[in-house]
Amino acid sequence: MKTREKVSVITLGCAKNTVDSERLLRQLQLNNLDLRSNPTEADTVIINTCGFIEAAKEESINTIMNAVASKKSGITKRIIVAGCLSQRYKNDLQQEIPEVDVFFGTEDYERILKELGGELKKNLLGERAVSLPSQTAYLKISEGCDHPCSFCAIPIMRGLHKSKSIEELVAETEFLARNNTKELVLIAQDTTDYGKDLYNTRNIAELIARLSKIKGIEWIRLMYAYPSRFPEDLIDEIKNNDKVCKYIDIPLQHISDNILKSMRRGITSRQTKELLSQLRNEIPSLVLRTTFIVGYPGETEKEFQELCDFVEEFKFERMGTFTYSQEANTGSYELGDPVPEEVKKQRQNRLMEIQREISAEQNSQLIGSELKILVESIEGDFYVGRSYRDAPEVDGEVLIPSSDGKIIPGNFYTAEVYDSDEYDLFARLKKN
Ligand code: SF4
Repeated sequence: MKTREKVSVITLGCAKNTVDSERLLRQLQLNNLDLRSNPTEADTVIINTCGFIEAAKEESINTIMNAVASKKSGITKRIIVAGCLSQRYKNDLQQEIPEVDVFFGTEDYERILKELGGELKKNLLGERAVSLPSQTAYLKISEGCDHPCSFCAIPIMRGLHKSKSIEELVAETEFLARNNTKELVLIAQDTTDYGKDLYNTRNIAELIARLSKIKGIEWIRLMYAYPSRFPEDLIDEIKNNDKVCKYIDIPLQHISDNILKSMRRGITSRQTKELLSQLRNEIPSLVLRTTFIVGYPGETEKEFQELCDFVEEFKFERMGTFTYSQEANTGSYELGDPVPEEVKKQRQNRLMEIQREISAEQNSQLIGSELKILVESIEGDFYVGRSYRDAPEVDGEVLIPSSDGKIIPGNFYTAEVYDSDEYDLFARLKKN
């Protein structure tokens, strides 16, 4: 009896890579391969890499080198590297790390399966082996990006914008809902550009309306919305559709006109502020998440201070920052990397310190309020969950004392907030 090959998939990088790995894992299952979550138990290790910025590339290389070491000690028999880093640097990697058996690009399922003696089940490509707790799943609605942001290498690795059809996404969501998904997190490089290639119009609002009708889906969350030309009908859909979380992730990257222009973001400081005020005015209890880049070439102390003042004034509910990473073949590469690393780090810490105080203040104002909580797990004396204010993996959590009563993770409960810290809330179960 031919023993089934043991395969392990290691996923690095963003939620889009997570979805790619989940698709691959499902295809491996359908090809009767023996999946192992622990790479040291596998004959073949597949590493789905990230090539976004320096830190991510380093993590990918380190992961590959760990697999090489495990191969040298006879534990791993074959190493397959795929994903963004491989898409971008295949030739260099082949020369520098000859111990890797084969390199593939992004979404290269068919060739990976062939390499493992299997075949792509095309008609089941919408199926996934979901890696998040089953009640939550990412839905990647498009791949690639048409925006010319000067600092970004993603279009080099993921190509131009390509939407998946509404039918495909409805089928995928129905599969997820049959497998207990209640929260759907919409992801792409730019979710607001959905449909422009397939339907000659940007119809993310129509897609959300269709997905919200699928039985079992209770929360739809919008991530990676691009700020310029924000669709008006999307604002209405978020406002009026009860299944859509009053939550928008909208990376802004900076607020100084000079920097926004050099970044080629296609929006000005005034337009940014007008959009954010419109969103806040039109959508009650809206939670806004954003990300900023500090240390972009030429960023002066004055421009950084302008960013600090903006964050202090506008008070985002959720915020992250990246330090600028000079990336080859990007529009800003020729500008060099003049801001010293320690200055970048200092600016990142200063901005996150401002945000920590804002978040602590906002959380304390929620004491006494009731929230619908999607409970995900139990850790020690607490059930751990999230409210509509918290996206998975990047935002805060809501902790409910386990002594409060029987809770089945994977379900929604109503709870009243009795305490808070800078990022998390503590809440008591509301008795029905
Ligand atoms: S929108 Fe800009 S930053 Fe985002 S993936 Fe596209 S090019 Fe990169």
